[in-house]
Amino acid sequence: MARCDVAVIGSGHNGLGLAAYCARLGLDVVVVEAGSKVGGLLSTEDVTLPGFRHNLHAVTLGSYAPFYRDFDLRPFGVRFVRPPVEYVMPLPDRHLTIRCGDPQANYRAVARFSRHDADMIQDLYRRFHRTWLTEYYSPPLPAGQRGQGLSTQDQREYNRLCAMSFRATVDELFQSEEVRLLFCLRAMEITGDVGLAARAATADYPGTGDFLFRLAFDEEYHIVLGGTNELGQGIARLLGKLGAKILTGSRVERIVVRDGQVQGVRLADGETLAARAVVSGANFTNTMLDLVGEEHLDRGFVERVKGLRPSRVGKFDLHLAVSAPPRYRVPEAREALCLFLGYEALHDIETRWSEILAGTFPAKPSFHCGCTSIYDPDSVPDGGHTLYLWQFVPAAISRETTEATAGAYLERILARWREYTTDLGDAQILGRHGYYLGNWKMKQAHPYGGVPLSHGQYYDRRPLPECADYRTPVRGLYLCGSASHPGGSVRFGPARNAAGVIANDLGLKPWWSEDLVPGTPLVSRAEPGRA
Ligand SMILES: Cc1cc2nc3c(=O)[nH]c(=O)nc-3n(C[C@H](O)[C@H](O)[C@H](O)COP(=O)(O)OP(=O)(O)OC[C@H]3O[C@@H](n4cnc5c(N)ncnc54)[C@H](O)[C@@H]3O)c2cc1C
Repeated sequence: MARCDVAVIGSGHNGLGLAAYCARLGLDVVVVEAGSKVGGLLSTEDVTLPGFRHNLHAVTLGSYAPFYRDFDLRPFGVRFVRPPVEYVMPLPDRHLTIRCGDPQANYRAVARFSRHDADMIQDLYRRFHRTWLTEYYSPPLPAGQRGQGLSTQDQREYNRLCAMSFRATVDELFQSEEVRLLFCLRAMEITGDVGLAARAATADYPGTGDFLFRLAFDEEYHIVLGGTNELGQGIARLLGKLGAKILTGSRVERIVVRDGQVQGVRLADGETLAARAVVSGANFTNTMLDLVGEEHLDRGFVERVKGLRPSRVGKFDLHLAVSAPPRYRVPEAREALCLFLGYEALHDIETRWSEILAGTFPAKPSFHCGCTSIYDPDSVPDGGHTLYLWQFVPAAISRETTEATAGAYLERILARWREYTTDLGDAQILGRHGYYLGNWKMKQAHPYGGVPLSHGQYYDRRPLPECADYRTPVRGLYLCGSASHPGGSVRFGPARNAAGVIANDLGLKPWWSEDLVPGTPLVSRAEPGRA
C-alpha cells in the first residue's frame, strides 16, 4: 500500500494550492484528480472550433492573492496579462467604466454619478480593507468578534455591516442607483448568484454584508495567457519541483475511516493510499455523504449536510468563435475585460430574480460578457477571437436544457447582444457553443463548491458551523474547497487557510507570512504622488 503524509482530493486551484503550501512544509503530498487534466474549473477547451481556446469557467482572475507572492509561478511558465479596463456598464444615456490599477480615474468615474458614493468607497477601503483582508485569509472568527484591532467605534460598525445582507449594505451606504447597480452586478459576477444582489431576496442572505468590503478594493483582474488552465498546469509543474505527486484520471471512491480517524483514500482502481491527513477540495456534500459515508457520521450532522440549500441559479453560457472582436457602440467597451449588458436599472435584477423563482427563461436577456482573446492572441488562430457570455437562468432550466432546446435560447441571447454591437452578424460567427448544467463538464463542481451563500451558509457557518475551521467530524479529514470560507473565486483563500490549520495540527510552523500586503483601493481622490 502506498503512503503519504497528505492526500489531497481534487486538483482545482485550491487542491493544487494547498498541496504547494504543504509540500513546502516538507510534507509528502499526493494529489488525486478524477479528471484527465489538472485544474478543475480552471478549464480551457476548444469547444467551438479547433484552435479556439475557450475558458469554460474561471476567466477573470484577481491578481491580488497572497499565493502569487508565496510562490513565484513565472519559472513554471505561467504568464498573466492585465487589461487596462476591468468593467464597463453601458446604460441608456451614459456608462460607468472601472479601470485596472487606476483609482483616481475610478474615483472620477464613480463621482460623476455620486461624489458621496465615491467618498464612501474610499472610506470603506481606508477603514476596513486591512481587517477584511486578514479575515479573508484566516479561519473565520465567531460572530460578533470580527474586526479585531479596529477602534471600538469602527469595530462596532464593521460587525454591524457584516451582520447585514450584501444588498442591504449597498442600499444603506450608496445613494446613486447606478453605483448600487455596479456593485450588485459585480457581486453577481463573482458569486454566480442573483439572489445576493436582489432586494427581494435580502432575508435569504443574512450576514453577507462584508462582501461590500471585497468590492471596495481593486482586485486588478488579470487573465492567464494561453487560457486559464495554464495556471493549473503551472502549479502542477511547481508541485513537481516541490516533490509532490499528482495522479490524474484517478477518482477517490472512498475516504477510509477507522474509529473516527482518517486512514487514507481508496481509489476507483482498488488501490489504497494511506495518509496522515486527507484534504478534500471536492464538493462538500459529496465528500461527506459519498466518500466518507453516513455510517461514519453522527446522524444530526448527516441531516445538516442534507439540509444545505442548493443554488436556485443556473447558468446558460454562450461561447462564440468569431472573425473579429465585437465593435460595441460604447467605444470604451471594446477594450473591457468584462461588460455588463442589458441591466439598465436595479429593477432588472429584481426581474431576473423573480424569473428565477418562477422558473422562466429571461424575457429580456441581460448578462456578463467579454472577449479575452484581444489580450491573449495565442489562444486563437490568426485573426480569430473568442467571446464568452454568462446568462443567469433558473437552475431547473439550466439542468433540463438539451441540445435540441438550446438553439432557441441562444438566439434570444444573441439578439440582445447585437443591440450593443454593430458587427455581431451571422457572417462573423464561425462557431458557437451553449454551455449549461445539461451538458456541464464538471458534474462535481460549482463556483461555490455546491454551497451558495444564501441561508447563512457564509463565513463562520460555511459550509456548516462545525466545519468552518476546515476540520470535519472525522479526525484528520480537512476541507480546502470553495464550500469553505471564503468561498469560490480563484483567490486560493480556502487553500491557504486550510494549510495553516493542518500545519498547526501536525505541529509544524507555517512558513508563509501572516502579514498581508494590502490591495490597491478601487477609488482614490488623491492626486498621483500625493498621500
Ligand atoms: C461558469 C463559471 C465561471 C466562473 N468564473 C470565474 C471567474 O471568472 N473568476 C474567478 O475567480 N472564479 C470564477 N469561477 C469560480 C471558480 O472557477 C471556482 O470557485 C474555483 O475554480 C473552484 O476551485 P476549487 O479548487 O475550489 O474546486 P474545483 O475547481 O471545483 O476543483 C475540484 C476538483 O475536484 C475533483 N474531484 C471531485 N471529486 C473527486 C473525486 N472523488 N476524486 C478525485 N477528484 C475529484 C474535480 O474533478 C475537480 O478537478 C467561475 C465558476 C464557474 C462555474
